[in-house]
Amino acid sequence: MPPPSAPGACLTQVLVHTPAHSQMTGALSYWSPAPLPPGTLVRVPLGQRELLGVVWPGESATPPDTALDPAKLRPITAALEALPPLSPHWRALISFAAGYYQRTAGEVALAALPPQLRDMSSVQLGRRLKKLAKAASASVKPETRPTQASDTAPAPEATGASQSVRLTPEQQQAIDQFHQQAGPFLLFGATGSGKTEVFMHCTAALLAASSEAQALVMVPEINLTPQLEARFKARFCALYGDDAVVSMHSGMTPAQRLNSWLAAHSGAARVVLGTRMAVFASMPQLRLIVVDEEHDPSYKSGEGARYSARDLAIYRGRLEGAKVMLGSATPSLESWYHSRPAAEGGRYLRLEMPSRIGSGQLPLVRRVDMNHQPKSCIISPPLLAAMAQRIARGEQSMVFLNRRGYAPVLQCSDCDWKSECPHCSAYRVFHKIDRTLRCHHCGLSERVPRACPACGNPDIVPLGRGTERLEEHLAELLADLRRPDGEPVRIMRIDADTTRLKGTLESQLAQVHTGEVDVLVGTQMIAKGHDFRRITLVAAVNPDNALFSSDFRAPERLFSLLMQAAGRAGRDETVATQSEMWLQTCQPAHPLYEALKKHDYPAFAASQLKERQQAAMPPFSFQALVRAEARSQEAAQGFLNLASQTAASQSDTAALLAHLMLYPAVPMSMARIANIERAQMLVESPSRTVLQRFLSAWQGVLHSTRSDPSCKGVIRWAIDVDPLNI
Ligand code: ADP
Ligand code: ZN
Ligand code: ZN
Repeated sequence: MPPPSAPGACLTQVLVHTPAHSQMTGALSYWSPAPLPPGTLVRVPLGQRELLGVVWPGESATPPDTALDPAKLRPITAALEALPPLSPHWRALISFAAGYYQRTAGEVALAALPPQLRDMSSVQLGRRLKKLAKAASASVKPETRPTQASDTAPAPEATGASQSVRLTPEQQQAIDQFHQQAGPFLLFGATGSGKTEVFMHCTAALLAASSEAQALVMVPEINLTPQLEARFKARFCALYGDDAVVSMHSGMTPAQRLNSWLAAHSGAARVVLGTRMAVFASMPQLRLIVVDEEHDPSYKSGEGARYSARDLAIYRGRLEGAKVMLGSATPSLESWYHSRPAAEGGRYLRLEMPSRIGSGQLPLVRRVDMNHQPKSCIISPPLLAAMAQRIARGEQSMVFLNRRGYAPVLQCSDCDWKSECPHCSAYRVFHKIDRTLRCHHCGLSERVPRACPACGNPDIVPLGRGTERLEEHLAELLADLRRPDGEPVRIMRIDADTTRLKGTLESQLAQVHTGEVDVLVGTQMIAKGHDFRRITLVAAVNPDNALFSSDFRAPERLFSLLMQAAGRAGRDETVATQSEMWLQTCQPAHPLYEALKKHDYPAFAASQLKERQQAAMPPFSFQALVRAEARSQEAAQGFLNLASQTAASQSDTAALLAHLMLYPAVPMSMARIANIERAQMLVESPSRTVLQRFLSAWQGVLHSTRSDPSCKGVIRWAIDVDPLNI
């Protein structure tokens, strides 16, 4: 590296990951021996450290010529020139996401790059690239043979039965529209209507149209949808080679993630399958983004930049001229609203596939009125009888309950003692299997006391029930029944506790698929995505809670969960006609259940949207939350309220307050976790632009408020734009 004063040396702006809230928002200036194209990855010194950075000209907050003495600037350490620079589109996506979600571009950009890249020298990177190139040339790619994938005549590949399907008229129509229109599209298709097949056809068509085209396929949680991954790999590896399909999710090792990233960045990967983080994958020839189960809350990040991968997918599609297809049987109300007719202002094109493949039968929804069942019964007699029928016929049932552990609370039968967590505003859950009391929020785990810690009474009893207790209860209820082969009934539980070890979920699912299990018990984990062929009965034991939640999105989530769960039943044509979804409820006439019974998402969505409109809630208003964590509630709330008062007295923010509502600070619903108090403040506006302008201006206020002596107890704060949990 030549000295700064060397002839030809030039000033270069480099984006690095500056610590959150350091208020260094722009790029930093360095000397470079020669001009570097924007988007080039470099290594630069910062203080005592050496960091990965991206050449990022233009928007520096500190123009080098005025604020900095060029003589004090340091040279970049190295340029990773073996890699092509990140594209202007990619940089625009990062800038947009940083601005919209109120973070620094440096944080967003560096978080979007594979972690291993951060610690690699250019020599190490060169070695890795060489190794990858060697591996790629060793595996002969079938890319050179003429591809014949087209919509009407899929290539006759050898693997997988689904490859030779004849499209249904609904599928064909959706695909035709996809080709004729620009989108974005919302594929609204019943569970089992063949949405995945449509995604694959659209992908195949775009990849076949150009030998460089790339597609990004996003799923909520890859571990929960191994089948989708398998189907995409089976189809596209057969066409373009094993390296052409890569995954991107947090369950991968750093080395695997880097390899996937490099494959996507170099264009070698034609299909990237990933979770929300994949929305930032560098894909220079991106032509299609698919967002499967677009309603799923896991597309919203809960830390760092709290971005919505679904919303960014729409933005990115427009930016890059790539088509975007969202898919769901129960779309988010936002996407549903955006896909209203264009004449009414809709911006997405809705493609509908109401029928199930094959028999076309969705399960019959049956409600058990728990007001008329034996008191405190868990599985009602009619539900038990229906399960017994399934067992006698050799069919499977699935029972789900959204609470893991044995019982959510232990209670003393004499005094008031309950198993509260000393560090959180929550009860510790009783896990019978290892006789522990565990806090699901801070992780505190202790052995169950022999006697009440408050009064010494040995009689402490479980209150309520979780999946562990439900499993035990079912084992008792079904003990005398036999399978058709004369064997006792086999029950299996799947939840976060049984699947903690890597690979256990897969092996448990495999056992369900091979029919070794008669009754499957679990949390919502089993209600999503899985293509169970032999389940003919799905039961929700106690779904009512969500009807009374204070979160305005709770009904939307419940409806979608129950529809998803119902979709697990009767996926095989031969058993579809007798498949049923059972709901045990004390509110059998509730409109949500009425709509569910008719499988009528549009009716449900219409009534929800009407309520939201009347209450001026999203999508009819725009929200952000500022959350603060502190040593005390007073400190957390005091910080937020002080920042709010300052906003009213400062001209740039005060001007916007006429079009914007700043609510008082309140404790979060989980007010204390691990001895940290949490409070939040809601900001709401009928205009997204006003909200955005206010937040950018208010950032500075929040920063300076934090340094006020009265806010000493504040630990951290963060803005969540378009929050999902309020
Ligand atoms: P969804 O994603 O809408 O739940 P899938 O795409 O998984 O539906 O399709 C459900 C099942 O139907 C899968 O087993 C799939 O292989 C099969 N399938 C999809 N399209 C067709 C078709 N046109 N003909 C026959 N089977 C199909
Ligand atoms: Zn007691
Ligand atoms: Zn706790």
